[in-house]
Amino acid sequence: MSIEKLKPFLATSYENFPKGRTIGAVILRTTQSETIFRTEGTGEPMCSEYVHAGIKHTQSIPRLVMTKRKQVAPERRRGREFLRSHELLYTAPKSDAPCALNTNAPCEMCIDCFLYGFAAGGEGAQKSRVWTEDAFSVLPATELIGDRTINAVFETGTMRDEKGNASTALNTSEYIKPGVHFLDIVTFRDVTADELRYAIGNILLTTRYGAVSSRVGRMENQILGLFGGIAELPSSLELVQGVYDKLDAAASLEHPLEPEPLITAVQSVIATWTNKRGISMQLSVSELEALISDVDQHWALNEQETFLKRLDQIYAPLRKVKSEGKKKEKAEKQEK
Ligand SMILES: [Zn+2]
Repeated sequence: MSIEKLKPFLATSYENFPKGRTIGAVILRTTQSETIFRTEGTGEPMCSEYVHAGIKHTQSIPRLVMTKRKQVAPERRRGREFLRSHELLYTAPKSDAPCALNTNAPCEMCIDCFLYGFAAGGEGAQKSRVWTEDAFSVLPATELIGDRTINAVFETGTMRDEKGNASTALNTSEYIKPGVHFLDIVTFRDVTADELRYAIGNILLTTRYGAVSSRVGRMENQILGLFGGIAELPSSLELVQGVYDKLDAAASLEHPLEPEPLITAVQSVIATWTNKRGISMQLSVSELEALISDVDQHWALNEQETFLKRLDQIYAPLRKVKSEGKKKEKAEKQEK
């Protein structure tokens, strides 16, 4: 079991206080269809940022940015679907409704709340133990964005009315082309082995990001490296710049990029990271494969329930403390 190798960097049980055990994952995210990342509302341009192309190549280029929120929200929702189906989402104390994302009433008791954190307006909060950062596209945004004009459709179901007049354009909409690569670093802090399996499962099982319909937003995630240590890995920007330098020397930098030279470039950049301060070890290719099949096995239909219920149980002592605290508060209030 390759998860054994990560043991020094895993927590044995859930604790309230951080101890600095850090696991870092290098993730390649590839769009499989047209994808749209926009801040709320339409008409906004796709999110991009001017940064240095490489570490050696210091010219500025605009890179597409996949923000933290755009990554984590769909991944949490994915896991929560399974928690819901196994009745492992609890009733939020404030609203008397089941735990919900992005509301002011988290349940503060489910796996998702304990692992990804919550902010409960006023009383207490739980810090997330899954840290993410903005992911950047390898190539310049200018190469990766397509543009389409959406026309009004007449009742005949065509773009022309009975007299043959063309419909007017409703709006133009930008999209990210299929086959675009984003490089990303995700950090897990003081997680247990099962929490790691849960969080990695969420990443690997999530296939839709951004504005979602049955047609757009398809994305594939691949884990290219997993590290253990006491410090975070270099940033996703540093990674994408290192990879750009390698690719520029070896291959052409045109969309669509060949996946193989890209993956080789990523592997060679991250292979040097164990020399960096605070990073102790990297799983080998076969160890990483074994870990991913271990995760797949735990998430498989016939083991999922046992796995999620076992994970859910590690928070039981804390739930007890919380509910006793609340009872006491209530009793005190009544006495007054
Ligand atoms: Zn919850």
